[in-house]
Amino acid sequence: MGKFLKKHYIMAPGPTPVPNDILTEGAKETIHHRTPQFVSIMEETLESAKYVFQTKNNVYAFASTGTGAMETAVANLVSPGDKVIVVVAGKFGERWKELCQAYGADIVEIALEWGDAVTPEQIEEALNKNPDAKVIFTTYSETSTGTVIDLEGIARVTKEKDVVLVTDAVSALGAEPLKMDEWGVDVVVTGSQKGLMLPPGLALISLNDKAWELVEKSRSPRYYFDLRAYRKSYPDNPYTPAVNMIYMLRKALQMIKEEGIENVWERHRILGDATRAAIKALGLELLSKRPGNVVTAVKVPEGIDGKQIPKIMRDKYGVSIAGGQGKLKGKIFRIAHLGYMSPFDTITAISALEFTLKELGYEFELGAGVKAAEAVFAKEFIGE
Ligand code: PLP
Repeated sequence: MGKFLKKHYIMAPGPTPVPNDILTEGAKETIHHRTPQFVSIMEETLESAKYVFQTKNNVYAFASTGTGAMETAVANLVSPGDKVIVVVAGKFGERWKELCQAYGADIVEIALEWGDAVTPEQIEEALNKNPDAKVIFTTYSETSTGTVIDLEGIARVTKEKDVVLVTDAVSALGAEPLKMDEWGVDVVVTGSQKGLMLPPGLALISLNDKAWELVEKSRSPRYYFDLRAYRKSYPDNPYTPAVNMIYMLRKALQMIKEEGIENVWERHRILGDATRAAIKALGLELLSKRPGNVVTAVKVPEGIDGKQIPKIMRDKYGVSIAGGQGKLKGKIFRIAHLGYMSPFDTITAISALEFTLKELGYEFELGAGVKAAEAVFAKEFIGE
């Protein structure tokens, strides 16, 4: 960047920026985990996690990643040969499918175009055709396509039926409205490095009584991921917990509580709206047919080398966004509005995107995207 120093901005959908107040918690002395002091920290932390999941059920947190939380769900709910319905509309839906294959499930796949969102009607139809399905695996926010599903509507369909609804909220938790108990979502899984504003390294899972019935019956092999051990030792952890990550989680949850979960969801919605207003003003097209609060996926314009966009933004301007995953590699780029982010993060990302697109020869009026994003924020900041 020549004469300018290169500050770094993470604008990818995970890991997301970690606030200093959380980082410094992680730097505190590691205490022994089998002490009343630590068990009390663990209890406070797991109890306050319930607020973010909007549940009265226990939340379990252990060292792993989002995928570990997903595997925990599959290993504990699915026995070999069990029929399951899996929605595949992106990379993380594919992951559910691969996990279910690994555990020998009989898979009914709802395969959609990447960028489409499964509807409650499609779920109902699949259930009517497969009344013996035991579990449905969904992705609340499909990070690979920037798409959010109508989870509340889907839960309305599954609530009265003899099927367990599992959702991957790895990128959705703390960004998309989620009311686990009120909506009747049976299992929610997540990871630490997204809406929770933490580094990667923790998996979190919560499940209700309907799901626990399957956990008791599951014949799948499991050991570290056996939820029965976590329930037995709650709020303690059966193995050595990630002590410093728990300190950090406690702080993150305090921050979310202070802001108020509804305000956190609303902040994400506004950042998403501003990002999409900018994209539209630049004459670019969204990939998703049902975009959400987490990340905006944008089609690479004709004649532009898609792989160059995240590369130039990162190497020249210090702004890390994400490219496409799997079959979308080179075809889209993704700008996150997730976790510890404010309007000025979004404006920075749009500005760096504009300089990058100009360099790559895309034609538009410099500043058009920033102007459109600012117009969305102006309504919030100064009421015009
Ligand atoms: N599911 C979704 C929706 C995600 O966005 C991610 C992470 O990018 C994962 C699952 C996997 O999480 P991890 O990479 O922490 O294992």
